[in-house]
Amino acid sequence: MRYEDFYRQSIDEPERFWGEQARLIHWDTPPERILDQSRPPFRRWFAGGTTNLCYNAVDRHLAERGEQLALVAVSSETGITREISYRVLYREVNRFAAILQSLEVGRGDRVVIYMPNMAEAVYAMLACARIGAIHSVVFGGFASHNLALRIDDAAPKLLICADAGMRGGKVIPYKPLVDAALAEASQPPPHVLIVDRGLDPQMTRVAGRDLDYARLRAEHMNAEVPVAWLESNEPSYLLYTSGTTGKPKGIQRDVGGYAVAMALSIRTVFDIAPGQVMFSTSDVGWAVGHSYNVYGPLIGGATSLLYEGLPTRPDPGVWWRLCEQYGVRTMFSSPTGIRVLKKQDPGWLKKYDLSMLKWLFLAGEPLDEPTAEWITQGLGVPVIDNYWQTETGWPAITLMPGLDLKPVKFGSPGLPAPGYRMKVIDEATGREAKAGEKGVLVFEPPLPPGCLSTVWRDDERYVASYFSHFKELLYSSLDWAIRDADGYTTILGRTDDVINVAGHRLGTREIEESVASHPAVAEAAVVGVKDELKGQVPVVFATLKQDAGDGAAAVAQAMQLRVVEQLGGVAKPSRVYVVNALPKTRSGKLLRRSLQALAEQRDPGDLSTLDDPGALDEVRRALERGPDQGS
Ligand code: ATP
Ligand code: MG
Repeated sequence: MRYEDFYRQSIDEPERFWGEQARLIHWDTPPERILDQSRPPFRRWFAGGTTNLCYNAVDRHLAERGEQLALVAVSSETGITREISYRVLYREVNRFAAILQSLEVGRGDRVVIYMPNMAEAVYAMLACARIGAIHSVVFGGFASHNLALRIDDAAPKLLICADAGMRGGKVIPYKPLVDAALAEASQPPPHVLIVDRGLDPQMTRVAGRDLDYARLRAEHMNAEVPVAWLESNEPSYLLYTSGTTGKPKGIQRDVGGYAVAMALSIRTVFDIAPGQVMFSTSDVGWAVGHSYNVYGPLIGGATSLLYEGLPTRPDPGVWWRLCEQYGVRTMFSSPTGIRVLKKQDPGWLKKYDLSMLKWLFLAGEPLDEPTAEWITQGLGVPVIDNYWQTETGWPAITLMPGLDLKPVKFGSPGLPAPGYRMKVIDEATGREAKAGEKGVLVFEPPLPPGCLSTVWRDDERYVASYFSHFKELLYSSLDWAIRDADGYTTILGRTDDVINVAGHRLGTREIEESVASHPAVAEAAVVGVKDELKGQVPVVFATLKQDAGDGAAAVAQAMQLRVVEQLGGVAKPSRVYVVNALPKTRSGKLLRRSLQALAEQRDPGDLSTLDDPGALDEVRRALERGPDQGS
């Protein structure tokens, strides 16, 4: 089917469209109503229908593909690979669900999961889904304070953790972080279930509170736990946003709408049919990890490859070797991941047989043109930029190669996914921007299935955070965008990051792209810094592919020139700092707000999601030293 017709139908006849898509999943009771919009901006998809995520991801495939691989969990850290068929997955999830029940975890109870990319994290998620418990996976890289905040918001009945994770060959004990978080939390759960890989011989246990997964599993080897049939709009899981711009929000997902969005997108966006192999390099702690390491591929009867480790260890060919070995068809990663590889020998991209690989999807941050081009040429497959948010749960702007591939345009993730009533509007007037005009990206309600149903226990925050920015009831993405005449949308940066130079509004992305087009530049971050004369001026922080030594000033000047040539004098960076590292969140997003604060001699704010504290010191030193180029 043509993309245009598919999309049009989803907008013009949503009930008919989604009513048809609902058949992609199993319902215990079919929906009474496809869409209930009686209380906007809230909406209820497939109201009255009952279903279950675990049933759709596991049980439903047993008859036809019980022996097929469901999950391949590869760890380049421990050196262990586990190949898990749908039948084995079914057994393990039932055992895990029985453990949860033995700990009195039931429907509607929250379970916090704090684990790296390992098979048991997937079992735990599916076991929760099976019995109707609400999981909240917290990225294993978060420190104890972040974990404590999320525990207090979710008020879980149980916390499941691993003894430790590993990064670059180094063991990172998790249990001490859990202990510290529970000491800090005001709502600590009564039990901690530990999946012990024996990585941390020093691990201590609190008698009575801490339980051993292996021991409990042995007690439930033959368990069969019936599926809890949930009403489509009951919560399935909570997932906190990355916190790039402030206090993370507990994004609440439903059951039926999410299942349908997964079934639809795995097929039409990611082009994965039952039996095919998907490899997402995301962590299970992120939105991509939930949707395309776990629920999407499994609901679609595919094989999901789960990877624990760095893209460069034991060597920079590790991802591509896995693609060859398992016949990966669709790969999903982030621009940050690809930029890491870009600093390595491109020969690694050519070393393995990638004839099965069809698509590389990248999401999470703007995908700059040089990186897109480098990886497209290196792999010889189309690279599809993908725009989404934790809130949406699946791509909002994408191309749909599983349906009808439209041309890739570098710099733009493409066209709206089904059900997204997307507009770019003028921030001040609310009027729709013309092609080529900048504005705020908004979605008209109802949000499609799969998108958040609310903020956990805070309907007011849901409305205030997302639907209160304009006179009309519109979901604001809080991202700044521009649409071309063909309807392709480009994200220019977050609305907080827009730089206002003497009345001209510039997206950070535009200037960053221009700077990064200089061949010596590895990555650039641009922020608006207060200026008495112009209001704000752009300031550049950039890392180089190779240390330029004394040549840094010349490169910095060349960057400044490039911006003036490409974007004009208004965009001219007033200062350029060459640094060795840029501050990022644990999910690889640039912390522009902290950069801006430092450049304005303010407090950098909440740094609890910062990946590498050294990067911030690096910026402080550069600011003290003075710019490599100033105007
Ligand atoms: P918080 O909302 O807590 O500040 P966050 O917005 O960083 O955190 P996520 O939901 O993980 O948390 O990130 C979504 C954001 O990432 C988008 O709103 C957008 O700014 C950016 N983003 C994602 N994909 C793309 C893309 N393909 N191109 C440009 N930007 C993207
Ligand atoms: Mg956000």
